[in-house]
Amino acid sequence: MQLYNTISRKVEKFAPIEDRQVTMYACGPTVYSAPHIGNMRAYLNQDVLKRSLLHDGYKIKHVVNITDVGHLVGDANLGEDKVKLAAEREHKTARQVADFYTDAFISDIERLNVLKPDVMPRATMHVKEMLDLIGTLDGDGYLYTVPTGVYFDTSKFRNYGKLSGMDFERLNKYLKAGARVERASGLRNITDFAVWRFRKKASDDEMVWESKWGEGFPGWHIECSAMSMKYLGSTLDIHCGGIDHIPIHHTNEIAQSESATKEKFVNYWFHNNFLTVDGKKMAKSLGNVYTLNDIVAKGFSPMAFRYIIISAHYRTKLNFTLHALENVAITLKSIYSFLGRLCECDSAKNAPNHEEFMKSVEDAAEKFFDEINNDLNVPSALSAMHALIKNANKRMEGAWLSKSEAKAVADAMMDFDGILGLNFEKHMRAKKGMDDEVKELVEEREAARIKKDFARADAIRSLLKEKFGVVLEDTKSGIRWHKER
Ligand SMILES: [Zn+2]
Repeated sequence: MQLYNTISRKVEKFAPIEDRQVTMYACGPTVYSAPHIGNMRAYLNQDVLKRSLLHDGYKIKHVVNITDVGHLVGDANLGEDKVKLAAEREHKTARQVADFYTDAFISDIERLNVLKPDVMPRATMHVKEMLDLIGTLDGDGYLYTVPTGVYFDTSKFRNYGKLSGMDFERLNKYLKAGARVERASGLRNITDFAVWRFRKKASDDEMVWESKWGEGFPGWHIECSAMSMKYLGSTLDIHCGGIDHIPIHHTNEIAQSESATKEKFVNYWFHNNFLTVDGKKMAKSLGNVYTLNDIVAKGFSPMAFRYIIISAHYRTKLNFTLHALENVAITLKSIYSFLGRLCECDSAKNAPNHEEFMKSVEDAAEKFFDEINNDLNVPSALSAMHALIKNANKRMEGAWLSKSEAKAVADAMMDFDGILGLNFEKHMRAKKGMDDEVKELVEEREAARIKKDFARADAIRSLLKEKFGVVLEDTKSGIRWHKER
């Protein structure tokens, strides 16, 4: 497997610390609202990575944390806790809000066929580990206290900012230029960040813990350092997240973890690019913030959404539109219909050019996995899959695809689905009655016509006539079909 590593800015051969065993950590959701589709892109891209490593024979220990405290509005030093604000807004306790949106997140990743992480630690359950880490950093002289909390002095960590490719000075300038929110007073450097924040009002009892520095709650960055190292050890093979985390959150995770352990924190940094909607950044004010539920309410299946997301390379910007999703849903439907027909294929035992066809199946599979192992080039892998489908479809239409050939194609498709996670098996197993099969083909022909793929539409018309004796009629009220007498 070749993977792009953010910190080296190169595509590198992946080699875990322990043979065949991979540790993988991803920054999880802040559970204060339903995750939007931009959040889900990260988990889908990471799922393709995980499935690809599993396919290559690795065992994986996968941790995704749940941030239920400490993530402040604006990600800055001041501002309110996101979960706490949501609790006020919804007239619930912070715990109720966190539980509700944790369940919503888990339901989303389940519907999207994301393989479940081995551990999903909650920040509020790991405050002790965070305080231990803060204690180590304090003992080594990395911290200082101001009235709002305990801060990490970023000038004391050599190579601060190396993940972003900016040195300490440049990163300070960068943050200064981008600062939109007020920062805590008394900070030595603009890049300094809180590892512990002191409680603000006497009323906030719910999310407050005792500590030797004073009552308060942990900073967001310290959570990921503490939880990732607790479950995966001081050096992780892979750490994942969106590219927006590079200059601050992940940079700070490195600073804390490496200052505490004096060891390298992460070997491979895996970052996915942004998702835009209709060419714009998602924003409540633009009304373009979609959740998975919104997509499903518009009549799309979670699998169509999964397909559109994973079909773009994880390092490219992805512009999501409902129109593109419509097209993808049609494509996915035609794949499912192809799989259904494949299983019922019992034509020609002595198909012509058998060897040649079997070789083309092998080649398609080889190409597919070569592309996956090439920094997860899913778009090219999908082209190999679609070329195979086209080839097999042609053979089926000529009633040439033999049972053994159909099985070879089905096996290859199942292998591909190990990476794609699009429920191919379900559509292969489904034994359909003839009417269902005809109905699916008629729908697929309609879809082909909408996409102006007239060759495919005509091919389906002939297939219906030859295999089922079905004749199509285009009427004003749509397509009708009847059996030839
Ligand atoms: Zn994190």
